[in-house]
Amino acid sequence: MANIYQQMESEELDAAIEELEREAADLKAQNLALDMARGKPSPEQTALARPMLDVLNSSTPLVDGNAIVDNYGTPEGLPSARRLASEILGVDAENVVVNGSSSLNLMHDLVTHGFTNGVAGNKPFYQQGEVKWLCPAPGYDRHFSVTAHLGIKNVPIPMLEDGPDMDMVQRLVEGDPSVKGIWCVPKYANPTGITYSDEVVRRFAQLQPAAPDFRIYWDNAYCVHAFGEKDDNLLNIFDALEEAGNTDLVYEFGSTAKVTFPSSGIAFVAASKADITEIRKAFAVERVSSEKFSQLAHVLFLKDLDGVKAHMRKHAAIVGPRFALVEQKLTDGLGQTGVATWTHPHGGYFVSFDGPKGSARKTVALMAELGVKLTPAGATWPYGDDPNDSNIRIAPTYPSLEDLGKALDVFVVAVKLVSARLARE
Ligand code: PLP
Repeated sequence: MANIYQQMESEELDAAIEELEREAADLKAQNLALDMARGKPSPEQTALARPMLDVLNSSTPLVDGNAIVDNYGTPEGLPSARRLASEILGVDAENVVVNGSSSLNLMHDLVTHGFTNGVAGNKPFYQQGEVKWLCPAPGYDRHFSVTAHLGIKNVPIPMLEDGPDMDMVQRLVEGDPSVKGIWCVPKYANPTGITYSDEVVRRFAQLQPAAPDFRIYWDNAYCVHAFGEKDDNLLNIFDALEEAGNTDLVYEFGSTAKVTFPSSGIAFVAASKADITEIRKAFAVERVSSEKFSQLAHVLFLKDLDGVKAHMRKHAAIVGPRFALVEQKLTDGLGQTGVATWTHPHGGYFVSFDGPKGSARKTVALMAELGVKLTPAGATWPYGDDPNDSNIRIAPTYPSLEDLGKALDVFVVAVKLVSARLARE
């Protein structure tokens, strides 16, 4: 359906553009310097975890069961940290490795392991000719960078309202042995905020890949990140695998980057018995054992899943009003215009916004001129190539509520102006 600018007669449209240009000039004169670009917690949120910095001191016993914290050992992670990670992911602690402070780093390590040494005894990817990776889009730009960096061909898959287009996923995974992996953010996806339906999870679990070295990279980064009354329910992929009689298919990742401190949280990976054995062997080449003070501090601070949930409720009290403000400003500013749609997540860090075809780059550029930084247009697609040039990722958590409100007011004007100009072209 035509939007309001497309429905206007040319004089009316010219007048609307003139008025919007005046509003944009007024905003520019304010010399704003605002940032809605990256999904980072606000300083208020990271402050919530500051007490964690006090749980370790020179008299803290540096043991964890039989594990020693202040020396090499337990490369799979401290037993208590594995238990905590296993509760967060809903898996058996035996199948978890806690390692380092970045889950993206673990994903990178495992793609690289497949590339240089091969998965499950198969030839390394680099010896297999062209290798492909499925990339539900819009998706997380840093996922796409990991595979692109190794020369793996990223293949975009449409993201639907309940998850990736599973007919296409199934066709490619089951029909093409050069497909070795897929990036998934199954709960509060980056950037659409949707949670995969039970049917989508079951279809993933039932896949019969053409390639024996195909794995699903199940990045459950936002599994405890609800910010409203309602928390979406994600079917446990390992339960679904068991139900399907399938195994050795999924690597699941998580971290406390957005629970405690980004870059200084703990990261973990879970997989089947055979896969986690292989992962532990691969990691053993990289390091003797990983950093454990942070693991101990996390356990002493968060304790268990209930502790994590209680802590996340404090985040929700800060984050929830920001997302409510996005919804309100977009509805008030654009709701009646027909120029845009956007997502309405119950958790996570992003709202995915779609303007008219051909508008995203122009809107992001105009926003920069008006003093508001956004994620580059196209970043949510493999190779930065959004076929419609319509998608913009809104990251509302970092700015203060006041700054966010101002940034959204600018955004509404920018989207209207770009849409009106497009209607004139
Ligand atoms: N996975 C997703 C989906 C993310 O959105 C992010 C950060 O934005 C990360 C992983 C990064 O996590 P980490 O800091 O544990 O590497």
